[in-house]
Amino acid sequence: MKIAVLPGDGIGPEIMKQAIKVLDFFGLNDAISYSPIGGAAYDLFNDPLPEATLKLALEADAVLLGAVGDWKYDKLPREFRPERGLLRIRQELNLFANLRPAIMFPELVHSSSLKPEIVTNLDIMIVRELTGDIYFGQPRGINKNEKGEREGINTMRYSESEIRRIAHVAFLSAMKRSKRLCSIDKANVLETTELWREVMTEVSNEYPEVQLSHMYVDNAAMQLIRNPKQFDVMVTGNIFGDILSDEASMLTGSIGMLPSASLDENSKGMYEPSHGSAPDIAGKDQANPLATILSLAMMFKYTFDDQKKFDAIEGAVKKVLQDGFRTADIYSNGTILVGCEKMGNAVVERLEG
Ligand code: NAD
Repeated sequence: MKIAVLPGDGIGPEIMKQAIKVLDFFGLNDAISYSPIGGAAYDLFNDPLPEATLKLALEADAVLLGAVGDWKYDKLPREFRPERGLLRIRQELNLFANLRPAIMFPELVHSSSLKPEIVTNLDIMIVRELTGDIYFGQPRGINKNEKGEREGINTMRYSESEIRRIAHVAFLSAMKRSKRLCSIDKANVLETTELWREVMTEVSNEYPEVQLSHMYVDNAAMQLIRNPKQFDVMVTGNIFGDILSDEASMLTGSIGMLPSASLDENSKGMYEPSHGSAPDIAGKDQANPLATILSLAMMFKYTFDDQKKFDAIEGAVKKVLQDGFRTADIYSNGTILVGCEKMGNAVVERLEG
Protein backbone atom coordinates (compact mmCIF):
# COMPACT_ATOMS: atom_id res chain seq x y z
CA MET A 1 0.00 0.00 0.00
CA LYS A 2 1.51 3.32 -1.10
CA ILE A 3 -0.18 6.55 -0.03
CA ALA A 4 1.09 9.93 -1.22
CA VAL A 5 0.29 12.61 1.34
CA LEU A 6 0.11 16.19 0.06
CA PRO A 7 -0.78 18.55 2.94
CA GLY A 8 -0.79 21.75 0.81
CA ASP A 9 -1.52 25.22 2.18
CA GLY A 10 -3.46 27.09 4.84
CA ILE A 11 -5.24 24.64 7.14
CA GLY A 12 -4.00 21.75 4.94
CA PRO A 13 -1.10 20.71 7.22
CA GLU A 14 -3.24 20.90 10.43
CA ILE A 15 -6.13 18.82 9.12
CA MET A 16 -3.75 16.36 7.48
CA LYS A 17 -1.95 15.81 10.78
CA GLN A 18 -5.22 14.53 12.24
CA ALA A 19 -5.83 12.12 9.34
CA ILE A 20 -2.26 10.81 9.75
CA LYS A 21 -3.05 9.98 13.38
CA VAL A 22 -5.78 7.69 12.04
CA LEU A 23 -3.34 6.05 9.61
CA ASP A 24 -0.90 5.63 12.50
CA PHE A 25 -3.65 3.97 14.50
CA PHE A 26 -3.97 1.35 11.74
CA GLY A 27 -0.16 0.88 11.74
CA LEU A 28 0.18 2.34 8.25
CA ASN A 29 2.91 4.93 8.87
CA ASP A 30 5.25 3.06 6.52
CA ALA A 31 2.81 3.38 3.64
CA ILE A 32 3.03 7.20 3.66
CA SER A 33 5.29 9.53 1.67
CA TYR A 34 4.95 13.30 1.84
CA SER A 35 5.37 15.92 -0.88
CA PRO A 36 4.44 19.60 -1.24
CA ILE A 37 1.74 20.93 -3.57
CA GLY A 38 0.16 24.32 -4.22
CA GLY A 39 1.62 27.45 -2.65
CA ALA A 40 3.92 25.42 -0.38
CA ALA A 41 5.45 23.80 -3.48
CA TYR A 42 5.65 27.12 -5.33
CA ASP A 43 7.58 28.63 -2.41
CA LEU A 44 10.10 25.78 -2.50
CA PHE A 45 10.34 24.93 -6.21
CA ASN A 46 8.66 27.75 -8.11
CA ASP A 47 6.05 25.26 -9.30
CA PRO A 48 2.67 24.40 -7.67
CA LEU A 49 3.04 20.80 -8.89
CA PRO A 50 6.76 19.92 -8.90
CA GLU A 51 8.02 16.93 -10.87
CA ALA A 52 8.80 14.97 -7.66
CA THR A 53 5.26 15.46 -6.31
CA LEU A 54 3.70 14.32 -9.55
CA LYS A 55 6.02 11.28 -9.68
CA LEU A 56 5.10 10.32 -6.11
CA ALA A 57 1.40 10.67 -6.89
CA LEU A 58 1.68 8.65 -10.10
CA GLU A 59 3.50 5.84 -8.29
CA ALA A 60 1.13 5.78 -5.30
CA ASP A 61 -2.03 3.66 -5.02
CA ALA A 62 -3.87 6.63 -3.57
CA VAL A 63 -3.30 10.31 -2.80
CA LEU A 64 -4.48 12.11 0.32
CA LEU A 65 -4.62 15.87 -0.15
CA GLY A 66 -5.25 18.69 2.35
CA ALA A 67 -6.09 21.87 0.45
CA VAL A 68 -4.29 24.45 -1.66
CA GLY A 69 -4.39 28.21 -2.03
CA ASP A 70 -3.78 31.47 -0.29
CA TRP A 71 -4.68 35.02 -1.17
CA LYS A 72 -0.97 35.95 -1.26
CA TYR A 73 -0.59 33.97 -4.53
CA ASP A 74 -3.52 35.65 -6.29
CA LYS A 75 -1.28 38.09 -8.16
CA LEU A 76 0.98 35.40 -9.62
CA PRO A 77 0.69 34.47 -13.31
CA ARG A 78 -2.04 31.84 -13.54
CA GLU A 79 0.28 28.86 -14.20
CA PHE A 80 2.11 29.46 -10.90
CA ARG A 81 -1.00 29.73 -8.74
CA PRO A 82 -1.69 26.93 -6.23
CA GLU A 83 -5.07 26.02 -7.77
CA ARG A 84 -3.31 25.28 -11.06
CA GLY A 85 -1.29 22.58 -9.27
CA LEU A 86 -4.56 20.98 -8.18
CA LEU A 87 -6.14 21.10 -11.64
CA ARG A 88 -2.96 19.64 -13.15
CA ILE A 89 -2.67 16.72 -10.72
CA ARG A 90 -6.35 15.81 -11.32
CA GLN A 91 -5.70 15.86 -15.05
CA GLU A 92 -2.32 14.03 -14.93
CA LEU A 93 -3.84 11.24 -12.81
CA ASN A 94 -6.90 11.19 -15.06
CA LEU A 95 -9.21 11.58 -12.06
CA PHE A 96 -12.37 12.21 -14.04
CA ALA A 97 -14.94 11.08 -11.45
CA ASN A 98 -15.47 13.14 -8.34
CA LEU A 99 -17.75 11.66 -5.69
CA ARG A 100 -19.05 14.07 -3.09
CA PRO A 101 -21.45 12.65 -0.54
CA ALA A 102 -23.54 15.19 1.37
CA ILE A 103 -24.74 13.39 4.48
CA MET A 104 -26.55 14.93 7.41
CA PHE A 105 -25.29 13.56 10.71
CA PRO A 106 -28.33 13.64 13.06
CA GLU A 107 -26.33 15.51 15.73
CA LEU A 108 -25.67 18.40 13.32
CA VAL A 109 -29.22 19.00 12.13
CA HIS A 110 -29.26 22.32 13.99
CA SER A 111 -26.01 23.48 12.34
CA SER A 112 -27.77 23.63 8.98
CA SER A 113 -29.18 26.96 7.86
CA LEU A 114 -32.32 25.11 6.72
CA LYS A 115 -35.21 23.86 8.87
CA PRO A 116 -34.57 20.47 10.52
CA GLU A 117 -37.45 18.77 8.69
CA ILE A 118 -35.87 19.69 5.34
CA VAL A 119 -32.44 18.23 6.11
CA THR A 120 -32.98 15.42 8.66
CA ASN A 121 -31.69 12.13 7.17
CA LEU A 122 -30.37 13.91 4.08
CA ASP A 123 -28.05 11.63 2.10
CA ILE A 124 -27.10 12.75 -1.43
CA MET A 125 -24.25 11.58 -3.63
CA ILE A 126 -23.05 14.16 -6.16
CA VAL A 127 -21.05 12.70 -9.04
CA ARG A 128 -19.12 15.49 -10.73
CA GLU A 129 -17.06 15.18 -13.92
CA LEU A 130 -13.65 16.56 -13.04
CA THR A 131 -11.27 16.72 -15.99
CA GLY A 132 -13.29 18.36 -18.76
CA ASP A 133 -15.73 21.22 -19.31
CA ILE A 134 -15.04 24.93 -19.25
CA TYR A 135 -12.19 24.51 -16.71
CA PHE A 136 -10.03 22.76 -19.31
CA GLY A 137 -11.55 23.59 -22.73
CA GLN A 138 -9.43 25.45 -25.28
CA PRO A 139 -9.21 28.20 -26.41
CA ARG A 140 -8.98 30.15 -23.19
CA GLY A 141 -7.34 33.35 -22.03
CA ILE A 142 -7.64 37.11 -21.90
CA ASN A 143 -6.89 38.71 -25.25
CA LYS A 144 -7.48 41.99 -27.06
CA ASN A 145 -10.37 41.80 -29.54
CA GLU A 146 -10.54 43.57 -32.90
CA LYS A 147 -11.83 46.75 -31.16
CA GLY A 148 -8.71 46.75 -28.96
CA GLU A 149 -10.83 45.88 -25.94
CA ARG A 150 -9.82 43.09 -23.49
CA GLU A 151 -11.90 39.95 -23.87
CA GLY A 152 -12.00 36.88 -21.61
CA ILE A 153 -12.51 33.51 -23.27
CA ASN A 154 -13.25 30.05 -21.88
CA THR A 155 -14.62 27.11 -23.79
CA MET A 156 -17.25 24.68 -22.56
CA ARG A 157 -16.44 21.38 -24.25
CA TYR A 158 -17.31 17.73 -23.66
CA SER A 159 -16.70 14.76 -25.93
CA GLU A 160 -19.15 11.89 -26.07
CA SER A 161 -16.65 9.47 -24.48
CA GLU A 162 -16.03 11.84 -21.56
CA ILE A 163 -19.76 12.03 -20.86
CA ARG A 164 -20.22 8.29 -21.32
CA ARG A 165 -17.56 7.29 -18.76
CA ILE A 166 -18.88 9.61 -16.02
CA ALA A 167 -22.40 8.39 -16.84
CA HIS A 168 -21.33 4.82 -16.07
CA VAL A 169 -19.83 5.89 -12.72
CA ALA A 170 -23.10 7.64 -11.84
CA PHE A 171 -25.36 4.77 -12.93
CA LEU A 172 -23.22 2.24 -11.01
CA SER A 173 -23.39 4.48 -7.96
CA ALA A 174 -27.20 4.69 -8.33
CA MET A 175 -27.38 0.88 -8.63
CA LYS A 176 -25.71 0.61 -5.21
CA ARG A 177 -28.15 3.10 -3.66
CA SER A 178 -31.82 3.78 -4.36
CA LYS A 179 -31.60 3.40 -8.17
CA ARG A 180 -32.55 7.02 -8.82
CA LEU A 181 -30.28 9.29 -10.83
CA CYS A 182 -30.83 12.94 -11.67
CA SER A 183 -28.64 14.39 -14.43
CA ILE A 184 -28.11 18.14 -14.26
CA ASP A 185 -27.54 20.23 -17.39
CA LYS A 186 -28.53 23.42 -19.17
CA ALA A 187 -29.64 21.69 -22.35
CA ASN A 188 -32.12 24.44 -23.19
CA VAL A 189 -29.29 26.91 -23.81
CA LEU A 190 -25.92 25.11 -24.11
CA GLU A 191 -25.20 22.63 -26.92
CA THR A 192 -22.45 20.99 -24.83
CA THR A 193 -25.03 19.98 -22.27
CA GLU A 194 -27.60 19.10 -24.94
CA LEU A 195 -25.09 16.39 -25.91
CA TRP A 196 -24.66 15.59 -22.19
CA ARG A 197 -28.41 14.90 -21.91
CA GLU A 198 -28.47 12.78 -25.09
CA VAL A 199 -25.55 10.59 -23.95
CA MET A 200 -26.96 10.19 -20.42
CA THR A 201 -30.23 8.99 -21.95
CA GLU A 202 -28.38 6.56 -24.26
CA VAL A 203 -26.36 5.10 -21.36
CA SER A 204 -29.53 4.71 -19.30
CA ASN A 205 -30.58 1.90 -21.70
CA GLU A 206 -27.78 -0.20 -20.15
CA TYR A 207 -29.24 0.33 -16.66
CA PRO A 208 -32.97 -0.37 -17.03
CA GLU A 209 -33.38 -0.62 -13.24
CA VAL A 210 -32.22 2.96 -12.70
CA GLN A 211 -34.80 5.70 -12.98
CA LEU A 212 -33.09 8.59 -14.81
CA SER A 213 -34.43 12.14 -14.64
CA HIS A 214 -33.03 15.40 -16.02
CA MET A 215 -33.06 18.84 -14.47
CA TYR A 216 -31.75 22.24 -15.55
CA VAL A 217 -28.99 23.51 -13.31
CA ASP A 218 -30.79 26.69 -12.24
CA ASN A 219 -33.76 24.63 -11.10
CA ALA A 220 -31.43 22.13 -9.39
CA ALA A 221 -29.82 24.98 -7.40
CA MET A 222 -33.29 25.99 -6.24
CA GLN A 223 -34.55 22.45 -5.56
CA LEU A 224 -31.47 21.69 -3.42
CA ILE A 225 -32.64 24.39 -1.02
CA ARG A 226 -36.38 23.80 -1.39
CA ASN A 227 -36.52 20.02 -1.08
CA PRO A 228 -33.06 18.40 -1.12
CA LYS A 229 -34.35 14.97 -0.09
CA GLN A 230 -35.93 14.50 -3.53
CA PHE A 231 -32.38 13.72 -4.77
CA ASP A 232 -30.37 10.57 -4.29
CA VAL A 233 -27.54 10.46 -6.88
CA MET A 234 -26.93 13.58 -8.98
CA VAL A 235 -24.53 13.63 -11.93
CA THR A 236 -23.25 16.76 -13.60
CA GLY A 237 -20.34 18.42 -15.39
CA ASN A 238 -17.34 20.10 -13.87
CA ILE A 239 -18.50 23.69 -13.35
CA PHE A 240 -22.11 22.90 -12.36
CA GLY A 241 -20.82 20.19 -10.00
CA ASP A 242 -18.35 22.58 -8.41
CA ILE A 243 -21.10 25.01 -7.50
CA LEU A 244 -23.88 22.55 -6.61
CA SER A 245 -21.66 20.40 -4.40
CA ASP A 246 -20.64 23.45 -2.33
CA GLU A 247 -24.31 24.37 -2.06
CA ALA A 248 -25.16 20.82 -0.95
CA SER A 249 -22.36 20.95 1.60
CA MET A 250 -23.98 23.83 3.43
CA LEU A 251 -27.22 21.86 3.77
CA THR A 252 -25.30 19.54 6.05
CA GLY A 253 -24.09 22.27 8.37
CA SER A 254 -20.50 22.94 7.41
CA ILE A 255 -18.16 22.44 4.51
CA GLY A 256 -15.74 21.19 7.18
CA MET A 257 -17.71 17.92 7.31
CA LEU A 258 -17.63 16.97 3.64
CA PRO A 259 -15.20 14.47 2.15
CA SER A 260 -14.58 13.72 -1.51
CA ALA A 261 -13.05 11.05 -3.70
CA SER A 262 -11.70 11.63 -7.21
CA LEU A 263 -11.23 8.40 -9.12
CA ASP A 264 -9.68 7.19 -12.36
CA GLU A 265 -10.90 4.23 -14.43
CA ASN A 266 -9.14 1.75 -12.09
CA SER A 267 -10.34 3.19 -8.77
CA LYS A 268 -7.00 4.80 -8.06
CA GLY A 269 -8.02 7.93 -6.27
CA MET A 270 -7.19 11.24 -4.76
CA TYR A 271 -9.04 11.93 -1.53
CA GLU A 272 -9.53 15.43 -0.18
CA PRO A 273 -11.97 17.48 1.84
CA SER A 274 -14.42 19.47 -0.28
CA HIS A 275 -13.36 22.75 1.29
CA GLY A 276 -10.41 25.00 0.48
CA SER A 277 -7.39 26.07 2.50
CA ALA A 278 -9.37 28.49 4.73
CA PRO A 279 -6.53 31.04 5.09
CA ASP A 280 -8.73 33.04 7.51
CA ILE A 281 -8.35 30.36 10.21
CA ALA A 282 -5.03 28.74 9.20
CA GLY A 283 -2.59 28.09 12.06
CA LYS A 284 -5.22 28.87 14.73
CA ASP A 285 -6.17 25.28 15.62
CA GLN A 286 -9.77 26.07 14.65
CA ALA A 287 -10.21 23.98 11.50
CA ASN A 288 -12.56 21.02 11.41
CA PRO A 289 -10.51 17.95 10.44
CA LEU A 290 -13.51 15.63 10.01
CA ALA A 291 -13.87 16.14 6.23
CA THR A 292 -10.25 15.05 5.81
CA ILE A 293 -10.66 12.08 8.15
CA LEU A 294 -13.84 11.05 6.28
CA SER A 295 -11.92 11.43 2.98
CA LEU A 296 -9.38 8.96 4.35
CA ALA A 297 -12.29 6.62 5.12
CA MET A 298 -13.41 6.93 1.48
CA MET A 299 -9.86 5.95 0.43
CA PHE A 300 -10.23 2.64 2.23
CA LYS A 301 -13.64 2.04 0.67
CA TYR A 302 -12.99 3.00 -2.95
CA THR A 303 -9.29 2.32 -3.58
CA PHE A 304 -8.44 -0.39 -1.05
CA ASP A 305 -11.86 -2.06 -1.02
CA ASP A 306 -11.71 -2.16 2.78
CA GLN A 307 -15.24 -1.58 4.02
CA LYS A 308 -14.22 -2.50 7.59
CA LYS A 309 -11.83 0.43 7.97
CA PHE A 310 -14.37 2.72 6.29
CA ASP A 311 -17.00 1.69 8.81
CA ALA A 312 -14.57 1.98 11.73
CA ILE A 313 -13.55 5.55 10.83
CA GLU A 314 -17.07 6.71 10.02
CA GLY A 315 -18.28 5.09 13.25
CA ALA A 316 -15.61 6.91 15.28
CA VAL A 317 -16.62 10.25 13.70
CA LYS A 318 -20.29 9.60 14.51
CA LYS A 319 -19.33 8.69 18.11
CA VAL A 320 -17.32 11.91 18.51
CA LEU A 321 -20.36 13.92 17.40
CA GLN A 322 -22.68 11.91 19.68
CA ASP A 323 -20.32 12.65 22.57
CA GLY A 324 -20.82 16.34 21.88
CA PHE A 325 -17.42 17.40 20.49
CA ARG A 326 -17.60 20.28 18.01
CA THR A 327 -15.14 22.52 16.22
CA ALA A 328 -16.18 26.17 15.90
CA ASP A 329 -17.85 25.75 12.48
CA ILE A 330 -20.40 23.23 13.86
CA TYR A 331 -20.59 24.46 17.46
CA SER A 332 -23.96 25.06 19.08
CA ASN A 333 -24.99 25.77 22.66
CA GLY A 334 -24.57 22.86 25.03
CA THR A 335 -21.85 21.10 23.00
CA ILE A 336 -18.10 20.92 23.74
CA LEU A 337 -15.95 23.32 21.73
CA VAL A 338 -12.62 21.78 20.69
CA GLY A 339 -9.81 22.70 18.30
CA CYS A 340 -8.51 20.78 15.31
CA GLU A 341 -5.92 18.84 17.31
CA LYS A 342 -8.35 17.75 20.05
CA MET A 343 -10.94 16.71 17.47
CA GLY A 344 -8.35 14.48 15.78
CA ASN A 345 -7.40 12.95 19.14
CA ALA A 346 -11.08 12.38 19.99
CA VAL A 347 -11.58 10.38 16.77
CA VAL A 348 -8.51 8.21 17.45
CA GLU A 349 -9.62 7.60 21.06
CA ARG A 350 -12.97 6.30 19.78
CA LEU A 351 -11.22 4.07 17.24
CA GLU A 352 -9.19 2.64 20.13
CA GLY A 353 -12.41 2.20 22.10
P1 NAD B 1 -12.56 27.80 1.77
O1 NAD B 1 -13.31 26.53 1.59
O2 NAD B 1 -11.12 27.71 2.03
O3 NAD B 1 -13.23 28.63 2.98
C1 NAD B 1 -14.59 29.07 2.96
C2 NAD B 1 -15.06 29.31 4.40
O4 NAD B 1 -15.21 28.05 5.04
C3 NAD B 1 -14.05 30.10 5.24
O5 NAD B 1 -14.77 30.91 6.14
C4 NAD B 1 -13.31 29.02 6.02
O6 NAD B 1 -12.80 29.45 7.27
C5 NAD B 1 -14.39 27.97 6.19
N1 NAD B 1 -13.81 26.61 6.23
C6 NAD B 1 -13.30 25.91 5.18
N2 NAD B 1 -12.83 24.74 5.60
C7 NAD B 1 -13.05 24.68 6.93
C8 NAD B 1 -12.79 23.69 7.94
N3 NAD B 1 -12.21 22.52 7.67
N4 NAD B 1 -13.13 23.98 9.20
C9 NAD B 1 -13.73 25.13 9.52
N5 NAD B 1 -14.01 26.10 8.61
C10 NAD B 1 -13.68 25.87 7.33
O7 NAD B 1 -12.87 28.68 0.47
P2 NAD B 1 -12.32 30.14 0.05
O8 NAD B 1 -12.18 31.01 1.25
O9 NAD B 1 -13.18 30.55 -1.07
O10 NAD B 1 -10.87 29.86 -0.55
C11 NAD B 1 -9.67 29.94 0.19
C12 NAD B 1 -8.54 29.39 -0.65
O11 NAD B 1 -8.77 27.99 -0.90
C13 NAD B 1 -8.45 30.03 -2.04
O12 NAD B 1 -7.10 30.22 -2.34
C14 NAD B 1 -9.09 29.00 -2.96
O13 NAD B 1 -8.62 29.07 -4.27
C15 NAD B 1 -8.69 27.72 -2.30
N6 NAD B 1 -9.55 26.56 -2.58
C16 NAD B 1 -8.92 25.37 -2.62
C17 NAD B 1 -9.66 24.23 -2.80
C18 NAD B 1 -8.95 22.90 -2.77
O14 NAD B 1 -7.80 22.83 -2.38
N7 NAD B 1 -9.60 21.81 -3.14
C19 NAD B 1 -11.06 24.30 -2.92
C20 NAD B 1 -11.68 25.55 -2.82
C21 NAD B 1 -10.91 26.69 -2.63
